[in-house]
Parts: sequence; structure tokens; C-alpha cells
Amino acid sequence: MAKTNEPQEEVVQFYASSKRIHPKLAKGRFSNWRIIAVLMTQLVFYVLPWLQWNGRQAVLFDIAARKFYIFGITLLPSELIFLTGIMLVSAFGLFWWTTIAGRLWCGYACPQTVYTEIMLWFDHFFEGDRNKRMKLEKEGWTAHKIRVKAPKYLVILLFCFWTGFTFAGWFTPIRPQWLDLFAFGLSTTQWFAIGFYGFATWFMAHIMREQVCFYMCPYARFQSAMFDKDTLLVSYDAERGEPRGVRKKNQDNANLGDCINCTLCVQVCPTGIDIRNGLQYQCIGCGACIDACDEVMDKIGSPRGLVRYTTEAVLQHEYADSDIKKRLLRPRVVGYGMILFLVACGLVYGIFSRDLMNIDIIKDRGMMVRQNNEGLLENTYNLRLSNASEETLYLQAAVKGFDHIELTGLPPTLEIKAGDIINVPVQVATYPEYADKGSHPIEFEFRYHTEGNQEWRIIHENSNFIGE
Ligand code: SF4
Ligand code: SF4
Repeated sequence: MAKTNEPQEEVVQFYASSKRIHPKLAKGRFSNWRIIAVLMTQLVFYVLPWLQWNGRQAVLFDIAARKFYIFGITLLPSELIFLTGIMLVSAFGLFWWTTIAGRLWCGYACPQTVYTEIMLWFDHFFEGDRNKRMKLEKEGWTAHKIRVKAPKYLVILLFCFWTGFTFAGWFTPIRPQWLDLFAFGLSTTQWFAIGFYGFATWFMAHIMREQVCFYMCPYARFQSAMFDKDTLLVSYDAERGEPRGVRKKNQDNANLGDCINCTLCVQVCPTGIDIRNGLQYQCIGCGACIDACDEVMDKIGSPRGLVRYTTEAVLQHEYADSDIKKRLLRPRVVGYGMILFLVACGLVYGIFSRDLMNIDIIKDRGMMVRQNNEGLLENTYNLRLSNASEETLYLQAAVKGFDHIELTGLPPTLEIKAGDIINVPVQVATYPEYADKGSHPIEFEFRYHTEGNQEWRIIHENSNFIGE
């Protein structure tokens, strides 16, 4: 065929179907850390909802009752600012950590990685290591394959169900939910939460796996903006490793680098990449390739660390690996750290110094003003009183604004049980000569004390009184 200088057509695919990655099981210190991280995160997720605190679930985001319990702290809808604060602290914590340690969060604690790792454990347990799994994948649906896969799918199904059940238990009390499960008494909302999270676990961790990190996770895309040349990253020391090549007997291998091109670092990689190609956004920093390569280096008698957690500056000979710790106190890390510290302090102070009683005063718009039987002008208000503490609160109220002003509708001392939110209509009345036409500022004063501490705390709330 005659050659032409015409530009050749290139087909660009916007969607590339991917092959299933069957990583080899890595063994070593980072793999052990990953196992610990998986167990710790799952311990928190699966066990915390079962813990009790003062006779109720220790951590419960009770959306139906609009109360969030975190051990001894009860957050009410009006205090969602604190939840925002907790999220803000978590986000700054993640930014700060990413600047120091790159993608360690992704590799060790991100739910997607953790659940994918658990699915890999199931794969490994039921189907064997990489080679066996790859062979099984190529096999048609034979009786042998069905015999191997069926128990795995059953275990995954149970695992996803249990994960969904636990997820629902963070939002509705898990102990009654457990009893309702066997009594066929779960509500549609509970079934939806269980099904939703169970399905998400199966789909994201079993079906999609590393594709979520590649194509769906926004954090994977923008976190490199937080890296600098002192950030700890999994890197291949190309200067030491190249030229790579297999050692041959009875040949001079002196011209070769330390990399023997065994590809074990690629085989263990859960995202299927070759770390020797440099920094790639698909690398989740899990360290499996470090473990694999260290084992190889031990076998060939070379020092460990051909693939290691190090910084770009080290690879550029700006300082040695042993000086990485000294670079921790750099402006970006200190800056993020200070913001994190200040926001965390503000949050802790805010939570522990907040009023245990939340009060909303809502003016009755239906009837602005009326004259009562005694000839006084009267306005009606709805008091929404929320006890955000773990104890019964005792409340007294008064109102000021005119030389003569009366507050009715409340008992002398109102008892509000722990966590209760109550609505109380009250009336404020004064003589017509004090309140002419229009709006007049008034002030409510509430005093309350807890069951255990008799010291009064005082809250002032402003409102207005509509005159004739
Ligand atoms: S495991 Fe180490 S020696 Fe083997 S290919 Fe990877 S970098 Fe080279
Ligand atoms: S390249 Fe190494 S650190 Fe990165 S994802 Fe693969 S195994 Fe983990």
C-alpha cells in the first residue's frame, strides 16, 4: 500500500472498559499496617452503634427525632453548626495530612479502599492468589467455577447486607432494629437505608473497585494541588533501579541497576499500575509495591527502598531520606496545622460552652394582639424549648419591657426531661397605656439549672410586643 503524508485518523475512546485486576497478596510491614487500618476502621463502623451511653445508643444520628447523639453530647437541629464544624475539622485534617503524607488516607483509611481490600480478601480466601484467580476468570461457567464462586458470592451478599444494616443503625436505634429484623417489623425507610448502603458497598467495592478512584473520586483529582516537593509519596528510585533487567548467570550484570524487572510491584498493585512509570494519579499510596520490592531486594542482597515512601526533593538530591522529618515544619504544613488547631479549639469550646437549653420564641402571627378579660393587651408567643443535655432541666421565665408586664402560661418551674423538645404557648400582657400602636421591644429572661447542679444559668432573648 502506498504511503501518504495524510494525517492518520485516531480513535479516541471516551469510555474504556477495563479488565478485572487480580492483585497478588502482598506481605510486609505496610501490608500489616493496612490490615490494622482496615480492622480499626471497621471496628469503629460496626461496633460503635451497639455501644450504650446513659441508657441510649452512644452514637446515633436520629434524623426522625431530629437529634444527634455523640456520647454525652446531644445536638439539636438548631446546633447543626457544630456538625458543620466537625466536617470542617475533618476536611482541614485531611488537607493537612495530605500535604505531609500524600495519599496515605486513600491507601489505608478511605472507605472505598477499605471495602475493596475486604473484597480482595474474600477473592483470595475463596479463589486463591492471583494466578488461580486469573485462571478461574478465563474458565467458562463450569461446575468447578460455580462451586468456587457460589460461597464467595454468598459471603459477599451477607457482608453487604450486614454493612447496610449497620449503616441504617447509625440513623435509627440499632438494637430495636435488630429485633424488628426478626419480627419482620422494619419500616420502609429502614429497608431503603439497608438496601441502599448494602447495594453501594457491593457495587463500589466488588464491581467497580479501583475504577471509583480513577473516575469517580473528586479528591483523587485535586489532592495533587496540596502536594509539594516535600510530600511523602510512593516512588521508584529510577537512578538506583535503571537500567532494569533480569540478572543472568555467567554474565556481567554490573551495568544493570537494582531493578530486576520481576514485575512483582505491578502484580501486587490493587490499581494495576507500574510505579516505575513515575507519579500517577491512580496510585493510592498503599505501599503494597514497597513490600513486594523490599522482599525482592532482600532476596538479591540489595538494600531495601528501591520503591519507598520518599519525597520528590530527596529523589532530586536536595536532602537525604533521613532528613524528611526535618521538613515537617514547613510553612504549608504549619499553616494548615494552625488553621486545623484553631478550628478544632473553636469547635471544642463551642460544644462545651453552649447553652444546654435552646430557646426559640415564635410570635403567634394568627392573632397579633387582643384584650383579655382583665382589660390588658395580650400577645401570644410559642416557646420552643429544647433540652440539649443528659439531665432533667428546671426552667423559670420572666419578661421585661414595660413598667407593668405579665407572663402567663408557664408553671412557676417547668421540668424538661433530658433530650426533650417541647412547645409551650405563653401570653404576655400589659396595660393599654404602656403599649400604644406599633411594635415595642421586650426581653424574656429564662433561668434554668440541671438536676445535679443547682446553680442558675441565665438566657436573655429579645422579642417584640404589638400594641393596639
Ligand atoms: S519489585 Fe522491585 S525489582 Fe521487581 S520490578 Fe518492581 S521495582 Fe523492579
Ligand atoms: S503503585 Fe504501589 S502504592 Fe501505588 S497503588 Fe500501586 S501498589 Fe499501591
